[in-house]
Amino acid sequence: MAYHSALCDILVDEAQLEQFALVAKDSAFRHGLLMRTKEDPNSPEVLSYAPFTLFPSPIPKSIYEQAKLLQRDFNLLVDKITQDSKFLEQALASIIKVDHFIARLFEIYRKTLQKGISSPITIGLIRSDYMFLCGEEGVTSLKQIEFNTISVGGGGLASQVPAVHRSIIMFLVEDSQMNIYDQRLIENELWSRNIPVIRRRFEDISKRGHLDEEKRLFIDGQEVGLVYYRYGYLPQQYIEKDWEALLMMEQSRAVKCPNIGAHLAGIKKVQQELARPGVLEHFFPGDPEAVSRIRSVFAGLYSLDLGNEGDQALDMAFADPDQFVLKPQREGGGNNIYGDDICHVLSKVEQSLERTAFILMEKIRPQPVRNCILRRGTLLKIQPCINELGMFGVYVRHGTEMTLNEFAGHLLRTKNSEHNDGGLMAGVAALDSPYLV
Ligand code: ADP
Ligand code: MG
Repeated sequence: MAYHSALCDILVDEAQLEQFALVAKDSAFRHGLLMRTKEDPNSPEVLSYAPFTLFPSPIPKSIYEQAKLLQRDFNLLVDKITQDSKFLEQALASIIKVDHFIARLFEIYRKTLQKGISSPITIGLIRSDYMFLCGEEGVTSLKQIEFNTISVGGGGLASQVPAVHRSIIMFLVEDSQMNIYDQRLIENELWSRNIPVIRRRFEDISKRGHLDEEKRLFIDGQEVGLVYYRYGYLPQQYIEKDWEALLMMEQSRAVKCPNIGAHLAGIKKVQQELARPGVLEHFFPGDPEAVSRIRSVFAGLYSLDLGNEGDQALDMAFADPDQFVLKPQREGGGNNIYGDDICHVLSKVEQSLERTAFILMEKIRPQPVRNCILRRGTLLKIQPCINELGMFGVYVRHGTEMTLNEFAGHLLRTKNSEHNDGGLMAGVAALDSPYLV
């Protein structure tokens, strides 16, 4: 299906654009589409709107429905991975040798397994991200960028975008705590259901947290029923003591979202291992439909482990770096390597173990759509943009019984097509909402 930017094309003159942007920014404040500033990330006194697009982006309905349908498959897949220590150990074996951070996470995983997992309940909140590949004859297909299992953000703010876009749309007819508001929206929802929420840092847990004899987790005199991680996905977020706090929480009876196994399942190396022949079949024995549904959205993913296979991937990357993205095992945007930098980085690590710290991925080239990104301090401009659709999934497993497995909404992020990388927090992507066509 070909894309149209009908809404953008209505706007021709700059004065009109200014007017729309002003109304939209006010609407963003009214609907809580907020973010703290980079300069004062911990001050509720200085606020701005979270970057967002002036218009919703047209997304083919069939593509949206396909991604929605897939979400339950991905929830199941993540949960199956968390329970397959043999697979995780094998998939991460090469990374563990070179990546100290992942090695330490894996150590926590191993220690929790040794003692037996204390909580019978597992909760997963994951987000699978896609771009759309425009093939021959304008046929659009869905390609997965990655799936996220820890500190999955955006759900709070994304829920407010349609309200802002709607008021915009109506107008058209006539004429480090920076992201706290994303979390506050979720907290408010929990409080409104009489579920008390507390916010604590690793440091608080290591200083004042403890387990009782029954492995119940206590902090400041309160028992914790569920630990929801919005932190701890990057090495620089840990000091030595924090590792003890993590181990304590993981070994406690509190439900973890995600537990350490699910955190490991979201690592890019695992995504690449899943693309190997036979691996999806291992996780979905007797369900070839699920296997082909999932496989249909995989882009090319290549291991750079030492050996023939890795050498071949290396040759491919050197021969045509623009066709690929080189990814280290990090989250949060801005870590990937593109174009000639790929050759640069790979030539340094070519024949050493260090190259196994990366995976190579086929570069997806979506068809740009026109939109206007509103961000504090930037000029208004209608420009070619690229959409990335994130689908949320949630599951609950009690012992061996899957008691909930659902699609749980979307996050559409849009960035200028000139940018290769970068998320909302990195100041590149903006919040958007899909306008199904
Ligand atoms: P992170 O964990 O940092 O979010 P991602 O794998 O999502 O890592 O990559 C960050 C960004 O880089 C994505 O949001 C997307 O814009 C871009 N990107 C990643 N992989 C690809 C790809 N294969 N093709 C095109 N762009 C990509
Ligand atoms: Mg991402």
